Amino acid sequence: MSVKVSKEFRWEMGHRLPYHDTCRNLHGHSYRMVVEVEGAVDDTGMILDFGELSTLVKPIVERLDHSFMVDPSDESLSRFLCENGLKTTLVPFYSTAENIADWIVGQLEVSLFAREHITGVSVSVFETVHSCASASRRKGVEPKLSCKAE
Ligand SMILES: [Zn+2]
Repeated sequence: MSVKVSKEFRWEMGHRLPYHDTCRNLHGHSYRMVVEVEGAVDDTGMILDFGELSTLVKPIVERLDHSFMVDPSDESLSRFLCENGLKTTLVPFYSTAENIADWIVGQLEVSLFAREHITGVSVSVFETVHSCASASRRKGVEPKLSCKAE
């Protein structure tokens, strides 16, 4: 029997997309994320305790919350954030919802897939109420990025 469990997380974060007409301006989002874990239930009737899932995800969310996500290639902004001691999340990619979802699922897969009965993990990042990008990993399968936006 393969089933899925999911849990929702939220954080506030600033970012910008330097190449984009409107999104190049400094702005932020109230991000919402749904982490979904798939697998077989164990002897306790669970795939993964919800509390354990929170324990795995919370350090990532705490790192992101009230930070500004920036790619070091955005040099002037990276320097400004650093010189002023502002909470910054440096990432080697443009901070789109797609890239954020893929980055987070990549951080979670190692610890989740260490558990024998877990077979898949999916992360959906909502940048707005209506716009979401999802990335997923299946144990033993190449990473897959799927995007749905409205
Ligand atoms: Zn944005």
